[in-house]
Amino acid sequence: MRDISGLYRDIETYTGENKALAQEINDLLQRYKRESEAMETAYDVLGARPWYIDFNENSEIIGCEWSDRYRRKLGYTDENDFPNVIDSWINVISPEDHDRVVEAFWKTVNGRDDSTKFDVKYHGIKKDGTECYFHSAGAMRRREDGSPQTFVGLTFDITEESRRLDEIREQYEIVEALSRDYLNVFMVDISKRTATILKLNGYVTEGFGDIEKKVYPYEPFCAQYIKDRVYKEDQKVLTEMMSLEKVKEMLDKSGEYVYGYRAVDKGEIHFYQFTYLKLESRFSGDKVIAGFKNIDAIVASAREREVLKKLSETDIMTGIYNRGYGEKLARELVEGGAKGMLCILDIDKFKEVNDTYGHYAGDKAVIAVAECLKKAFGEKAVVFRLGGDEFSAVIEGYSSRESGKGIIDTLFREIEELDIPELVGSRFFTSVGVAFFGREGDSRDFEQLYKGADECVYLSKKTEGNKVNFFN
Ligand code: GH3
Ligand code: MG
Repeated sequence: MRDISGLYRDIETYTGENKALAQEINDLLQRYKRESEAMETAYDVLGARPWYIDFNENSEIIGCEWSDRYRRKLGYTDENDFPNVIDSWINVISPEDHDRVVEAFWKTVNGRDDSTKFDVKYHGIKKDGTECYFHSAGAMRRREDGSPQTFVGLTFDITEESRRLDEIREQYEIVEALSRDYLNVFMVDISKRTATILKLNGYVTEGFGDIEKKVYPYEPFCAQYIKDRVYKEDQKVLTEMMSLEKVKEMLDKSGEYVYGYRAVDKGEIHFYQFTYLKLESRFSGDKVIAGFKNIDAIVASAREREVLKKLSETDIMTGIYNRGYGEKLARELVEGGAKGMLCILDIDKFKEVNDTYGHYAGDKAVIAVAECLKKAFGEKAVVFRLGGDEFSAVIEGYSSRESGKGIIDTLFREIEELDIPELVGSRFFTSVGVAFFGREGDSRDFEQLYKGADECVYLSKKTEGNKVNFFN
């Protein structure tokens, strides 16, 4: 701004009336200067410069002046690429805000008094296509007849603020969501090493009974909780898992850190889970939200699911796989890339066992044969009951009659060594059929192999004693 302070400095050179006038002008100029400096300071503080839109007496726009600051916010350099015409502004208003903002503009212009203030927020499309968010406020200077003369206003860039608000809203929702599910919720400040109670419902630790006090030093707070409430065997590991170093390390990896442990309540053990969530807002600094909850119900139902699954896969009497599940596993092995043998076993003259020694003794024999199969074939074999006195097994790795016979002989030995008191010294034999799969030329068709092994069982029946026949 031009320095005008010295313009009438030499008042002494004036005389009489002129001198008084010069004095008055000088005073006015001084005041103008001070006020413009104050306005400049105010604009700097506000981070905006005013814009002006002039109207003629017919309420038509006759001129505009956009501030350079506004231009630059939008990525334009000067009047050449962002001319002082109303359309420059209209064109940068994002389509979703356009109608609302333009309507507010004309409503202010056409209002006849000062009650219609211009105060809008809108997204501006920058020269590079990205968006920023503006808050624009202005008022109309009117002629005596109320017609618009000059529209003056300021436009602030509120992109940052609105983003921060969005962040805060988002964080708030996280905290809300967490506290809906978790009985105890804390805010942990990692740098200050403090824990602030946001919600305390599930427990009050003995050492921290004074819940009027909300902020605690983190470490003693955790130590007290672990000592009072955590199951002895889990205390050591939980101390480590809840340490701020661990929390920080885990959150740096994923933003969410969940861990399960056992807590003791009135002598009963319960399953608990904590979740630490990072607050991402730039205001939140190194802060974390932590929730603790009882997950007994989840653990219980997971266990129930496990029990039900096991039941659905198991033959109740023998404890080995039932036909449905066993066959599924067997089929996967046979039809997959594995190499091995499919066996079928049937107890000989089992009706006689039942008839002679009773069903109870028969049951014992069925259970004993299942155990022999598991023992002889090993944990990795898929052993299942086809029903009645019939069993099947898939054993991986055996691909010659020699090795196959070896393991079947092991099985026969197990069966021969059985000592079932209910059978009072009497013994029974079994017939086995084997089909190999996975060797060159072997079929991978489960039905075909099964049929082959079954035919071999029938063949083995023709020989007295334990007997095996090979299909291929
Ligand atoms: P084969 O030598 O031809 O195999 O004659 P088998 O008497 O063993 O007759 P088959 O295998 O055809 O019939 C099996 C018999 O086993 C039928 C039934 O009386 C008996 N059985 C089937 N399931 C059970 C069971 O769970 N417990 C008992 N105790 N007996 C069963
Ligand atoms: Mg039989």
